[in-house]
Amino acid sequence: MACTIKPEEVKRVKGQGFLNNKGTNLFSARVITVNGKLSVEQTRTIAEAAEKFGNGDVLFTTRLTIEVRGIPFENIVPFQEFIAKAGLETGGTGSVVRPVVSCKGTTCQYGLYDTYQLSEKIHERFYKSYHMVKLPHKFKIATGGCPNNCVKPDLNDLGIVGQLVPNFDEDMCNGCKKCQVEAACPMKAAKVEDGILNIDKDICNNCGRCIGVCPFDAIEDGTPGFIIYIGGRWGKHAAVAKPLSKVFTSEEEMLDTVEAAILFFREQGKTGERFSETIERLGFEVVEKELLSRDILNRKQEIIDAQLHVVGGATC
Ligand code: SF4
Ligand code: SF4
Ligand code: SF4
Repeated sequence: MACTIKPEEVKRVKGQGFLNNKGTNLFSARVITVNGKLSVEQTRTIAEAAEKFGNGDVLFTTRLTIEVRGIPFENIVPFQEFIAKAGLETGGTGSVVRPVVSCKGTTCQYGLYDTYQLSEKIHERFYKSYHMVKLPHKFKIATGGCPNNCVKPDLNDLGIVGQLVPNFDEDMCNGCKKCQVEAACPMKAAKVEDGILNIDKDICNNCGRCIGVCPFDAIEDGTPGFIIYIGGRWGKHAAVAKPLSKVFTSEEEMLDTVEAAILFFREQGKTGERFSETIERLGFEVVEKELLSRDILNRKQEIIDAQLHVVGGATC
C-alpha cells in the first residue's frame, strides 16, 4: 500500500521528527535523548508510548536517538503529549544543528572531562536555542572524551576532543635507560634522546597517559583542554575533519568557537553544501582565522536575522 497522507503533511511532521515508514500511513517518531542518557522514567515512558501509540518496536539510531515505529498519523500529537510528561521531545531532522552525540567519557577510564555534562550544555545552547536557525545543510556535533575518538568527532561537521597536555619538567629528567614515559606513551611520541626525554609535539595527541608515570616526577601534571575538529562528514561522501591549531583551555572560549562555526556556516555556506565543502571552497586557514576572531560572534544577531537557506539541503 502506498502512503495516502498528503505530501505536505508528511513533510510537516518530518520537520517534527516523524518519519514515514515507507509504503504505509505509519510513522517512526525520532525521540531526542539529548546525549544518549535516559532516566528510568524516560525509558519507561518510551516503552509505554511504543506499546500505546506504535507497534511496540523501539529502535536505536546510529546517533543516539530512539525511534518508535509504526505510529498512525492520528497518534502523532497524542504521542508527543505523552512523552512530554517525561521531558522528552521528538525532532532531529532538517538543515539545522542536529542532536549532539557524546561518548561515555564521564565514566570511561580514559575520559579527560565530563562528556555528558558538556553535551548537555551543547544540546541547550546549540540544538535547542538554534532550532529555528536554518543552515545550508545539517550540522552534526560530537563530543569525545579523549583522543581515542570512539565517537568519531573527526567525522562530524564539528567534533570536540578532550586534551591533557603534559607539563614536562626537563630539570627533573635523568634520561633513564628504561624510561617509564616512553613505555606508557601509546603514540610513541616520547623518546629518550641524548640523555633526556623528548616529546614530539607533532605526534603527541595530548592523551595525558604519561602523566604521573615518571618515578622522578618529570611529568607530574598536565593542562586540561579541548581541541575542535571542523569539516568532517561520513555518508555518500566522506571527509576527515582537521583540528583548529589551538588547544582551548577555557570551556567558555571553546563553546564560543563552536557558536562562531555555526554562524560562519550559516553566513558563508551555500545552500546544499556541507561544512566540509564550505571549508574546502574558502580554505581551512581562512575559516580558522574567522572562527578564532570574535568578529562573527559580534555580528550574531545580524547573521541570525538574515533571510538565508529558507529551504536547506538536508534530505533526512
Ligand atoms: S573516546 Fe576516550 S573517553 Fe570516550 S569512550 Fe573512547 S576511550 Fe573513553
Ligand atoms: S621522563 Fe622520567 S622515566 Fe623518563 S627518562 Fe626522564 S626521569 Fe627517566
Ligand atoms: S600525552 Fe599521550 S601521546 Fe603525548 S607523550 Fe604523553 S602519553 Fe604520549
